[in-house]
Amino acid sequence: MKQHIIDTLAGIDIRFDEPLKPYTYTKVGGPVDYLAFPRNKFELERLVRFANQENIPWMVLGNSSNIIVRDGGIRGFVIMFDKFNTVTVNGYVIEAEAGANLIETTKVAQFHSLTGFEFACGIPGSIGGAVFMNAGAYGGEIAHILSSVKVMTKSGEIKTLDAKDMRFGYRQSLIQETGDIVISAKFALKPGDYTLISQEMARLTHLRELKQPLEFPSCGSVFKRPVGHFAGQLIMEANLKGHRIGGVEVSTKHAGFMVNVADGTAQDYEQLIAHVQAVVKERTGIALETEVRVIGEKG
Ligand code: FAD
Repeated sequence: MKQHIIDTLAGIDIRFDEPLKPYTYTKVGGPVDYLAFPRNKFELERLVRFANQENIPWMVLGNSSNIIVRDGGIRGFVIMFDKFNTVTVNGYVIEAEAGANLIETTKVAQFHSLTGFEFACGIPGSIGGAVFMNAGAYGGEIAHILSSVKVMTKSGEIKTLDAKDMRFGYRQSLIQETGDIVISAKFALKPGDYTLISQEMARLTHLRELKQPLEFPSCGSVFKRPVGHFAGQLIMEANLKGHRIGGVEVSTKHAGFMVNVADGTAQDYEQLIAHVQAVVKERTGIALETEVRVIGEKG
């Protein structure tokens, strides 16, 4: 198969049996059979059509800041968008390709004195992952500023979706139902004041640094916010701060985070997640639902 892939997909950057650990924010995860970096939608389409034709499973990843890849890795293709990351500004509209870094995109908005994107200035995702997750923080979310999304369907067709049809909810979007690939997104911003935008971004960055264990690998908030509660608070009240399995522990700084402090594994993460869910459920009756997505095969 390797030679067939090299011959058929010539010109596309594909790495074979590539460990995913270095690519993920948690710094865990086994190897993927084929890791592909298309440079544009044409290469993406070739990849998708090839994998479909050959019955090879495939999935897309952004910055891998909201996933845990299991220790056995992933069979088939993982497609990443690092080479597909142009950001353009047209009036008050920013268009960003799937692989554009969300934080860098907020800096583009800042540079052009466009307001509305400040909330995302510390979310370490890609544009594709942010649209997929409806990423949000400090009262803002992608749904508030998105105007439209260009996607490629699972069979390789390209279409444009209007923001109002995206079925956005709390960390929810239509893309999670359809499995479409986000190619690019347009954001409608408003003219603002450069100094005020910069001050707001500095304020939010400061809050994040104060509250979050950014010095360790993690996947951000492990759990969604249960209605009427905060996951971190429930975990803290269950005395689970600092609880450790293998190399992964519930952050002592922010109980909603699990940090990889000593070369932990995906298995450590999964066991710690299950433990926290069980203890919180027993104590409060509340079932914590994961925000992070666990993918791949067990080691
Ligand atoms: P990935 O983790 O790579 O993927 C997540 C999902 O998106 C996967 O299912 C993947 O298949 C899908 N996906 C990725 N790209 C595409 C694409 N192009 N097309 C279709 N599907 C795609 N999140 C928040 O909402 N708010 C926060 O404040 C926040 N803070 C964080 C702080 C830290 C320190 C960390 C590590 C994470 C934080 N997160 C936060 C989580 C994460 O950054 C967001 O969920 C982000 O949107 C994920 O984007 P990603 O590119 O990393 O996606």
